[in-house]
Amino acid sequence: MNNVSFYDTKPYDRLYFDELAEQYGVRIHYFDEKLNKKTATFAEGEAVVAFVNDNLGEDCLKVLYEKGVRVIAMRCSGYNNVNLKYAKDKFHVLRVPAYSPYAVAEYAMGTLLTVNRKLHRAYNRTKEFNFSLNGLTGFDLHGKTIGVIGTGRIGQAFISICKGFGMRVLAYDVYPMPEPDFEYVSLDELYRESDIISLHCPLTKESYHMIDAESIRQMKQGVYLLNTSRGALIDSEALLEGLMSRKIGGAALDVYEEETEYFYEDFSNDIIDDDTLARLVSLPNVLITSHQAFLTREALRNIAVTTLENLKEYFDGKTEFTNEIR
Ligand code: NAD
Repeated sequence: MNNVSFYDTKPYDRLYFDELAEQYGVRIHYFDEKLNKKTATFAEGEAVVAFVNDNLGEDCLKVLYEKGVRVIAMRCSGYNNVNLKYAKDKFHVLRVPAYSPYAVAEYAMGTLLTVNRKLHRAYNRTKEFNFSLNGLTGFDLHGKTIGVIGTGRIGQAFISICKGFGMRVLAYDVYPMPEPDFEYVSLDELYRESDIISLHCPLTKESYHMIDAESIRQMKQGVYLLNTSRGALIDSEALLEGLMSRKIGGAALDVYEEETEYFYEDFSNDIIDDDTLARLVSLPNVLITSHQAFLTREALRNIAVTTLENLKEYFDGKTEFTNEIR
């Protein structure tokens, strides 16, 4: 049996990994803690499994290397939290490039329907026997223009959902796909023309804060913003200002740039120090969820299978990996 250290564990993560671990010949050591330079000292064996809010910066990687870790299997597609430059030649960094684009795309549409048609508010009202409709007016999605940034697996799945709703789709991608059944435009045109903008590109140096005061200035009055990708694509202060000035009509965020400290944990008995997050949460036209767009049974199972397949390649002594990040 090969030892694997598994960080930031929640009960729903264990379910499918536990089911498959023996078959893949691994003994999993689960840690509730997020991976960072302190918790890296817990690592057992050569393999670590990490997630979106683990901090695999240089300090952490140094400790992992000293502990004998040689393979890092990200159980997610994004890897903006791994210092790849430092990891090079020391670790194999593997990931799950796709597990269910539908999970995230369907969730993105769910958040748009929620903020637009005020389902979150209606739910709370009727729970208290308040059957008033005042303030719950939304708009038809049919005929509206949606701007999709990033037309990879999730972006494409989201576009086909939007087309089913009868929306006009504009898209932007640094690598446009050939023969699209939607229109690629420049970012400026997308900002200018879209009633709703949805982010589906990775977080990179180039895409960091791509939605900032300047891009918001170019957008339509009353634009809705959706982010199921990575928090730091949006400058949260600029978003808050856009909402306060009423330029932005609504926002649905499954991710937040400072989410690491809060998301996946219960702070209902605490006072939140992050004023921007607290103000965003307090606005009636903002929906914030805790990085859960991936959370379907199908996605969790696919994540477990691909992560264990990735580790199997390492433990089988392969030198070429199907899902290595370079
Ligand atoms: P993908 O690699 O299939 O597609 C990403 C697309 O973005 C590619 O077409 C790429 O060319 C494009 N792109 C890269 N940089 C860009 C830029 N600066 N501007 C515009 N386009 C750019 O990835 P995917 O599977 O579709 O996932 C997209 C993102 O969704 C991931 O990077 C991840 O951050 C996020 N994600 C979030 C969740 C969640 O639970 N909320 C789950 C999975 C993935």
